[in-house]
Amino acid sequence: MNEVIIVGAGIIGCACAAALARQGLRITVIESDIVGGGATAAGMGHLVVMDDNPAELALTSYSLALWRDLVAEHPVAHEYHRCGTLWVASDEEEMAAAQEKHNLMRAHGISSTMLDAAALQQAEPGLRQGLAGGLLVADDGLVYPPKSTKILLDQAVQYGAQFLSGEVTALIPGGVRLADGREIFAQEVVIANGLAAMKLLPELPLRYKKGHVLITDRYPGFAQHQLVELGYIKSAHASEGESVAFNLQPRPTGQIMLGSSRQFDVTDKAVEPAILAKMLQQAISFIPALADLKAIRSWTGFRAASPDGLPMIGPHPWRKNVWIASGHEGLGITTSLATAELLKDQMTQQTSKISTTPYLPSRFAFTEQTVS
Ligand SMILES: Cc1cc2nc3c(=O)[nH]c(=O)nc-3n(C[C@H](O)[C@H](O)[C@H](O)COP(=O)(O)OP(=O)(O)OC[C@H]3O[C@@H](n4cnc5c(N)ncnc54)[C@H](O)[C@@H]3O)c2cc1C
Repeated sequence: MNEVIIVGAGIIGCACAAALARQGLRITVIESDIVGGGATAAGMGHLVVMDDNPAELALTSYSLALWRDLVAEHPVAHEYHRCGTLWVASDEEEMAAAQEKHNLMRAHGISSTMLDAAALQQAEPGLRQGLAGGLLVADDGLVYPPKSTKILLDQAVQYGAQFLSGEVTALIPGGVRLADGREIFAQEVVIANGLAAMKLLPELPLRYKKGHVLITDRYPGFAQHQLVELGYIKSAHASEGESVAFNLQPRPTGQIMLGSSRQFDVTDKAVEPAILAKMLQQAISFIPALADLKAIRSWTGFRAASPDGLPMIGPHPWRKNVWIASGHEGLGITTSLATAELLKDQMTQQTSKISTTPYLPSRFAFTEQTVS
């Protein structure tokens, strides 16, 4: 039976562990800190179909279907809520973008509904007057990522996986070395430790993309849907600089979670009041009553951004028996389950439900020469 070490117990590592252990592989998950405490804990937990390119649409919609199956048994344990995503259009140009999104989703069998200005107001009365309309994607949802991560790890353990506390400091032939000097051996090693993958594989083309999040006190009924401005798409896919966009999530607890900011190559995790203020001003410009809510906490996290915005899922191009599952940027909660399936299929030579090609690490020219 194949033995596999998985480095990192964020949502990606734990999803991979569950899928591989279920397949009968002998799994050891190694985590240096708290399970699900990295980018996974910082994220908003929005499960969202994104359609910036065909590969993103394929991965997110496949993963959303897997999520619906996963949460079906114990929705409360995941704090799952099928809130849907309401894409808000400010003007006619954004309405045209909403219509395009709608057409694309329809072509791929994903249900969505166009809303005119009146229907938008009815769906979310807190939104300011004068918005053009929107697009409702009703099957999107949200989870509490650290809880889902723990559930996936527990599933892996039920199928025989082992969990080990320790920091992997180096890859060695046939395994890994830990900070305390222990050496653990396995036939295959999966690098699933988010941005820290760059420490073990310096050739990885990843960049930090910092994000701010804020959560309020409880205001049940304040909003019904995950609300995202259509302008978000421009800011989410910018490749330089900093940007903010209106992104509001109604938590099942009644709290309101607000995102999102994006800053490339900033590695200091301190909350930056100027960025947070911009983000909140943007949110208040969409829902004025937000200004009266009491914020209780804000924090930051780091997305692992690859050059084309898609994750790397598959074999390392030239390191033997090393696999990569990293670079999930701002969609790693959504795409974790599909990532695990695609990785498992490649490791066990099975055919995947969607093509694995767009996500192969070998699409990037990281060659042995680039290792510094
Ligand atoms: C502000 C923000 C908002 C986001 N919102 C969303 C959202 O709404 N929806 C969505 O789908 N995605 C969202 N994301 C993205 C999502 O959170 C990430 O893509 C995802 O959590 C990445 O998971 P991961 O397991 O790869 O990384 P991580 O969660 O960072 O896990 C990596 C783990 O590896 C461990 N580790 C590191 N180095 C070592 C080592 N050497 N040895 C052992 N263990 C190690 C770490 O301690 C950590 O637990 C958001 C991200 C941010 C920052």
